[in-house]
Amino acid sequence: MPIEKREIIQVWDAVARVLKYQLELPLESVSLEESDGRYLGEDILATHDVPPFDRSPYDGFAIRAEDTAGASRDEPVKLNVIDSIGAGHVSDKEIKQNEAVRIMTGAAIPKGANAVIMLELVSEKEKNMISISRKVEEGDNISLQGEDTPEGTTILKKGTRIHSGVIAVLATFGYHTVKVFKKPVVGILATGTELLDVEEELVPGKIRNSNAYMIASQIKRMGGDPRILGKLPDDFDETYAGILQAMEKTDLVITTGGVSVGDFDHLPAIYKKMGADLLFNKIAMRPGSVTSAAVFEGKLLFGLSGNPSACFVGCELFVRPYMLGSLHAQKVHLGAVTSILQKDYPKPNPFTRFVRGRVEWNGTAAAASPVGLDKSGSVSSLSEANALIVLPGGSRGWKKGSQVMTLLLEGEGSVWPWDQALKSRS
Ligand code: AMP
Ligand code: MG
Repeated sequence: MPIEKREIIQVWDAVARVLKYQLELPLESVSLEESDGRYLGEDILATHDVPPFDRSPYDGFAIRAEDTAGASRDEPVKLNVIDSIGAGHVSDKEIKQNEAVRIMTGAAIPKGANAVIMLELVSEKEKNMISISRKVEEGDNISLQGEDTPEGTTILKKGTRIHSGVIAVLATFGYHTVKVFKKPVVGILATGTELLDVEEELVPGKIRNSNAYMIASQIKRMGGDPRILGKLPDDFDETYAGILQAMEKTDLVITTGGVSVGDFDHLPAIYKKMGADLLFNKIAMRPGSVTSAAVFEGKLLFGLSGNPSACFVGCELFVRPYMLGSLHAQKVHLGAVTSILQKDYPKPNPFTRFVRGRVEWNGTAAAASPVGLDKSGSVSSLSEANALIVLPGGSRGWKKGSQVMTLLLEGEGSVWPWDQALKSRS
């Protein structure tokens, strides 16, 4: 059989093709404690002013600024302390001329007061009397009602990823349950007659199915609900039936293995028989050039390489934006930073390379060092990597010390990142 000819497209074109699709996800309510890592299904409005009342940001004395008009070191003014309040309390007294209320951080400003002077700046030599030796301005040290967030402000946008700080805001405004997007259910199918389950003993010629578990973990980090649907031998009919079944009960399906041009790589022919619309099956990248995607009855089907590193990279580059786009996140791509390449790559490569590496601060700059074996089948490099070092293809190699773009595997991600940085070099 002649090897089929595939149309090679650039990484960014492949990303763009995937981004044309998006899942319609229903909303569900979860408790605030369980909302970590989920994506907000609606804009969140401030249900009241923050702070909800004028309050003191310091321990000190609430006073009338005008009473300090003539105060100086030589001629301090004396004020009569008429009450003392801590946070959570409201004084029932009103401050009149030359009076003060001792007030602790967070307590409401008493009636009649228009400023607070810090404890450290007053002297308290006599009982119930303070002396102040400086002029205080009206409004000094008062946190005004609504100065942080006025009622009605949109404080969190739909699609925001919920993390500790977001939870603080939700709790502030009394949201004890939160509407979030339902997690996309992602079916994961590993193909390959050589695959064993994780708990099985090795036998000659076989390896354990590590990709399914790796993808499941990646999907969880992308906000999805992974379902490992087992493994399929390299048999056309079984794989065909397995994929159709998986597509029925999930929002999208990811397969690993069998997308290349080998004798037992059945996926391309299966896409054809299904009548799926191919988005791409050849990308100018290493590893993972055979990464494929197709649309079947409105659902996406990703065909990742069986090679662990290639599988990992394909999932991060193409599955991620689809997942996060469906969750209405703004930052659908891996975050990118510039860093300094720590190794020579003298051999030119026509394809953009995504090298598993580490980005670390070396005292002066972000340094990008490759980790482990730079081969698509390498699995050990994945456990150490915190970034993908991007080396655009071209007629020259890359020199140690070059500035390169690195994609961060952890972190917030990026809105519109790095298509320019992928341009090949002449
Ligand atoms: P394939 O993409 O099917 O040609 O597989 C490429 C390489 O990846 C082969 O060496 C496979 O044995 C290996 N491989 C395939 N599937 C998996 C898997 N699920 N876990 C680990 N390695 C795999
Ligand atoms: Mg295979």
